[in-house]
Amino acid sequence: RAKTSGRGTAEVFDEQLRRELAERADLEAAIAHGLVAGEFLLHYQPVVSVATKELRGFEALLRWDRPGHGLVPPAAFIPLAEQSNLICELGRWALGEATRQLAAWSAADAGRGLTMAVNVSGRHLGSPRILDDVADALAGSGVDPSCLVLELTETMIVDDVACTDRLRALRGSGVRIAIDDFGTGYTSIGQLQNLPVDTLKIDRSFVASEAPGHQELVRLIVSAAHTFNLAVVAEGVEEDAQLAALRTLQCDAAQGFLIARPMSAAAVEASCGLGARAMSSPEAAAPA
Ligand code: C2E
Ligand code: MG
Ligand code: MG
Ligand code: MG
Repeated sequence: RAKTSGRGTAEVFDEQLRRELAERADLEAAIAHGLVAGEFLLHYQPVVSVATKELRGFEALLRWDRPGHGLVPPAAFIPLAEQSNLICELGRWALGEATRQLAAWSAADAGRGLTMAVNVSGRHLGSPRILDDVADALAGSGVDPSCLVLELTETMIVDDVACTDRLRALRGSGVRIAIDDFGTGYTSIGQLQNLPVDTLKIDRSFVASEAPGHQELVRLIVSAAHTFNLAVVAEGVEEDAQLAALRTLQCDAAQGFLIARPMSAAAVEASCGLGARAMSSPEAAAPA
């Protein structure tokens, strides 16, 4: 059937390809417009000390309040944005917004030196403009460079000499570097010694796994990281038992739904005691 209708099939594919290209172009235009129109926002997920549960800082996570579509998660637009320089525009915006927010919270932070982690795309790190974008965010907000953490994945850090040099330059300016989703790529523990990084974020798949051996793997990662003076953050902690295990393994910090979901700046101010009208507990902040 496919053979006899070969010509029709080609037309169907043509039509489908044409439609997909048009959809991509529409989405790209909508992202570019959304940036100008102020449709992007950041949610913030608290990062806490494993030992004391004290707040250490936040990870900024991009959201798109696209008219008619609700709050769009990054998985629905970052991959497309990464195919063009749009991802650098989004990255520049996120760096500016996250540091501006941290500066505002630092006033209410009582000297805790809270950190703000921002995800950086490989394409943005691959471009020299990342250096200006980070410098502009720091200068514009006045935050202490050591409070800004740039999250990158393993492949971006290891693959390319120009990127590694850029990371060294960024780190030279005082900014911290974290490897996101650690364990899902191909970095060997030995390489950690030579990479310009400060923190490992252990991927959620290892934190959640009950597979025999995974706990040992996490123990190994933590002890290697500590040997090389790296801090370890566990991602995606959803259960008390996971947090207890991380404490035994001497993991430094954790984030995950168990502790708090990513939330709006207003919700952070209400629940973390950071706003001008800050309240001390989420209960106290609930609407009357
Ligand atoms: P990521 O940097 O690894 O961020 C962690 C993701 O895990 C977030 O998803 C967060 O909401 C989710 N998460 C946190 N705790 C838990 C948990 O306990 N359980 C589960 N199941 N999930 C948890 P989100 O916000 O959808 O972001 C997905 C990815 O999109 C991020 O992964 C990051 O790679 C990317 N991304 C987000 N914001 C930005 C950005 O501003 N720039 C760039 N380039 N990428 C971003
Ligand atoms: Mg991240
Ligand atoms: Mg991650
Ligand atoms: Mg991830």
